[in-house]
Amino acid sequence: MKLHSVEMPGKLVVTAPATGQIISEIDETPVHETPLYYKRARTAFFKWKSIPTSERLVYLKKLKKYMVEHMDEIAKTISKDTGKVLTEAIVADIMPTLDAIDHICKHAEKILGRQKASTPLLLIGKRSFVEYMPRGVVLVISPWNYPLQLAMVPMISALAGGNTVILKPSEVTPLVGKCIEDLFVKAGFPEGVVQVAHGGKEVGSAFTKGKSDYIFFTGSVRTGKIIQEQAAKELIPTTLELGGKDPMIVFKDANLKRAAKGAVWGAFTNSGQVCMSAERLYVERPVYKQFLKILKKEIDLLQHGTDADADIGSMTFPGQKEIVKEQLDEALQGGAQLLTGKPSGEWEEGMFLPLSVLTNVKQSMKVVQEETFGPLLPVIPFDTEAEVIELANDTVFGLNASIWSKDMTKARRTASQLVSGAVVINDVIVSVANHGIPFGGTKDSGIGRYHGEAGLRIFCHEKAIVEDWGIKKTEIQWYPYKGKYPLFIKLFTSYFQERRNWFTFLKSFLALMRKN
Ligand code: ADP
Repeated sequence: MKLHSVEMPGKLVVTAPATGQIISEIDETPVHETPLYYKRARTAFFKWKSIPTSERLVYLKKLKKYMVEHMDEIAKTISKDTGKVLTEAIVADIMPTLDAIDHICKHAEKILGRQKASTPLLLIGKRSFVEYMPRGVVLVISPWNYPLQLAMVPMISALAGGNTVILKPSEVTPLVGKCIEDLFVKAGFPEGVVQVAHGGKEVGSAFTKGKSDYIFFTGSVRTGKIIQEQAAKELIPTTLELGGKDPMIVFKDANLKRAAKGAVWGAFTNSGQVCMSAERLYVERPVYKQFLKILKKEIDLLQHGTDADADIGSMTFPGQKEIVKEQLDEALQGGAQLLTGKPSGEWEEGMFLPLSVLTNVKQSMKVVQEETFGPLLPVIPFDTEAEVIELANDTVFGLNASIWSKDMTKARRTASQLVSGAVVINDVIVSVANHGIPFGGTKDSGIGRYHGEAGLRIFCHEKAIVEDWGIKKTEIQWYPYKGKYPLFIKLFTSYFQERRNWFTFLKSFLALMRKN
């Protein structure tokens, strides 16, 4: 039985992972059409970049209106294509996209407008500004775990700034890729402003090699490195949003019931296929046993399924099931124990996996060191703040983290010590839902940030502008240099010394002017 989209020549066959049924077929974009896509995108760019930001935002508002009116339909498409439950499709894929549109519509004109900058005294008489100029054609390559949000947020951010966009959605969730293409058509975006190239890594690779002006990639570390290497050949700037192995730290003074509920949601939402899911749970030793009990009770309440009330959906990508199995098997062979869940030999057929909590794990095990992207949670006791900070930072990743304590001073102190793109205190994952703050990773979790001001500005060239009224005949640093050197020594010494000597400064400045 096919459990997922399989590629046939020229077609992406869509199989619903939760049921194993074939539900659609989508035409693949022929690789030889890559130059045509870029040509259309460049032609459209000349018009799109020239219209005011406010007019571009009207298109985004139309897009939002259409999405709001068709929310249920979009949620069902996402759910069918990924196997995730409907609640997660709407809460974690559709809502963040709509909220991003709102945020951009509210702030884009200010963030991308001409900014006045300060001008140092040494450039007296001049004024400085920064302008934001669209880069051109932005290539967005997106993954399958949040196939709507992780494609659309960079797309709309790039579009607001005046860029045109080519999206290469994940071949694992092609139905959502098609849905995104249709959404932009329904919203009435001008031809060529948004194009979607459907297909697998060959298509992704062809579009990466085509000369885009920016590549925004979300996916695995392995592919991120391939794309960065390719982009470097043409000096194409990139943002890379890659994996995570996020620690969750529970101090003994935390609200344990809330922390346990948070851990269960943080680890198992989207079946754990979240780059920011709680992937390592560190609990302070005095409450370790008590915490495990609450955790088990909370997990036992959850229901797998496909209906609107289900809590846990299926896995999306069969390859991911293998990774979970491999990490679980290695941990159990190394002496780890299952608090909940089953050994892989007892798993049922299909794409629904049990929610596994592991105790007695070692820091060196794969389940602690490598990204799992599945419903597998190791729980590790710790004794001191310093120790848990060291354990939390002992990873090649650094995307998100969470700290649970009623002592905000301690929680904040710990947060500042974590090498991580974001930290949430007494909650999990949620920082990604605030479009006003930056999102991105450290170390192998990626390069660059989006959301917030950065999310709009990365898609623009920052242009520095200095203006002079053009009335003065000349400038002191222009030719001739004759007799100026000793005066410059005096000018700069009086200006840069610990306490400025304004008298000498003015005197040497006037003397320099007289030399012109
Ligand atoms: P995952 O499938 O684990 O999310 P990938 O990094 O394999 O991560 O895929 C993310 C996106 O990158 C998908 O759209 C995929 O088709 C695309 N992709 C995979 N390999 C390449 C490649 N060599 N060049 C460009 N895009 C690629």
